[in-house]
Amino acid sequence: MLRHSLRILTTRRGRAALLAIVAIGLVSFFDYLTGYEIRLSILYLVPIALMTWSIGLAAGLLAAVLSVLAWGVAFHPTYTHTYSHPIYYYWEGSVLGIIFMLFAMLLHSLRTALAHADRRLLHILDGLPAGIYVTDDEGERPLYANKHFDQAIGTAVEQNEARFERASVVETLAPAETTAGFHYEELRDLQTGRWFLLQTGTIPWDDGRRVQLKVLLDVTDSKQAAALRRQHQELLHNAARSAVLAEIASMLGHEINQPLMAIATYNDACVMLLSRDQPDIAEVIVALGKSRAQAVRASDIIDRTRSFLRRRTPTLAPSDINETARVSVMALELELQEAAVHVQMDLAADLPEVVYDRTLVEQVIVNLLHNALEAMRPPRRGGLIVLRTAAAQEGGVTVSVIDDGPGIPDSVATRLFTPFFTTKTHGLGLGLCICRSVIEAHAGHLWHARGEHGGAAFHFTLPQGPGDAPPTELPDMRGADVRGRSNER
Ligand code: ADP
Repeated sequence: MLRHSLRILTTRRGRAALLAIVAIGLVSFFDYLTGYEIRLSILYLVPIALMTWSIGLAAGLLAAVLSVLAWGVAFHPTYTHTYSHPIYYYWEGSVLGIIFMLFAMLLHSLRTALAHADRRLLHILDGLPAGIYVTDDEGERPLYANKHFDQAIGTAVEQNEARFERASVVETLAPAETTAGFHYEELRDLQTGRWFLLQTGTIPWDDGRRVQLKVLLDVTDSKQAAALRRQHQELLHNAARSAVLAEIASMLGHEINQPLMAIATYNDACVMLLSRDQPDIAEVIVALGKSRAQAVRASDIIDRTRSFLRRRTPTLAPSDINETARVSVMALELELQEAAVHVQMDLAADLPEVVYDRTLVEQVIVNLLHNALEAMRPPRRGGLIVLRTAAAQEGGVTVSVIDDGPGIPDSVATRLFTPFFTTKTHGLGLGLCICRSVIEAHAGHLWHARGEHGGAAFHFTLPQGPGDAPPTELPDMRGADVRGRSNER
């Protein structure tokens, strides 16, 4: 029994209880000695606080009761009676008892609240998907480690540095940029191959000294995702490049086909004229002249395409948009005739002069006309395309290609300018992207709307004059800049 009591006294709580009881005895003794002149009863709060803080509320309340009893015994009216009536003695005893108990209860609530706050913080720190670790300023003595750091990574990093390859010091940010001047480094676990980002900085600790705070994040997944994204982008870039080349080749083939067909037709006409008994040489000369003009146009197209592929600086010159519109229609003359589609030229007079690359803008109009023509297939004889030019409200000109085809359903409209989006069996889905790139490189806009007769309408603007002059070099049209645009203006 005695040994058991002695063992209790070796514990922290046991020592606190003994100290409190001795303190209560001493206070009541000195209170008695000083004849209650100094009123030492306030000092009972010290052992009560000690018991409440170290052991708990029940112990605190017990200390309060013991204190009142000690005060009552030492100050009993039998020995010293300083009150005019004994009732005041009991009144003071009760008031002291209530105050002591309230004090114990308040202290206990404060302690519980502090413990709650501490626990909440620990829950947060333990719940974080990062390892958090605090060491003394030399980085040797661990002061705190959250669960994640301790269990999963931390111990491994701290105890087995050799296992980790310090990849690179990624960055040391200036203290102005981070609150505690944290520096970052990447570590790779040579055993598991996982990557970690270790952030280290100094912070003030609760005893005032500076300590090292380390935050360790497993960044393997995001590193892998970034690598995959890079690979994917490279693939997409290569695919876009080859597809754009294919698109240019097919556009070239398409454009070259027109003059070649025309040359064949004029040649047939010449043969027919010459095989007459009395050939009309004048007529033959006219046909040969037209045939030559078509041959020159074909060679022109090849030249222009070649220089375009070489990423030449565009030939920016003040040009007549109506003239460019007419040339574009001529380029599609035979196809239009074959499909019996009529192009109604609605060209405004007195348009402001605009500066642009004639070949490229011609290409855009041909492309839009071609799309309109294809939208009317299977050949719908008698179809109508309106090619309109007008002065733009914000200066410059607007060109519109409006067809009376089936129009563009909403599901298609949202993806019109998405690279490689096509509804055609042999389409590439790059025509509109390239058109938009060309127009935007001229600081203009290209957008789609519903046509007046239910078909599709494509409009683009070209800004006016040297003040709005387009960039001196067009972006690479062979891939990179045709991706990821929204569909409508
Ligand atoms: P491609 O014609 O080679 O498929 P585009 O970028 O030129 O590529 O056009 C993408 C898609 O937009 C086409 O497949 C077609 O579905 C739609 N489209 C373009 N112009 C029209 C139009 N005038 N009428 C209806 N649909 C159109």
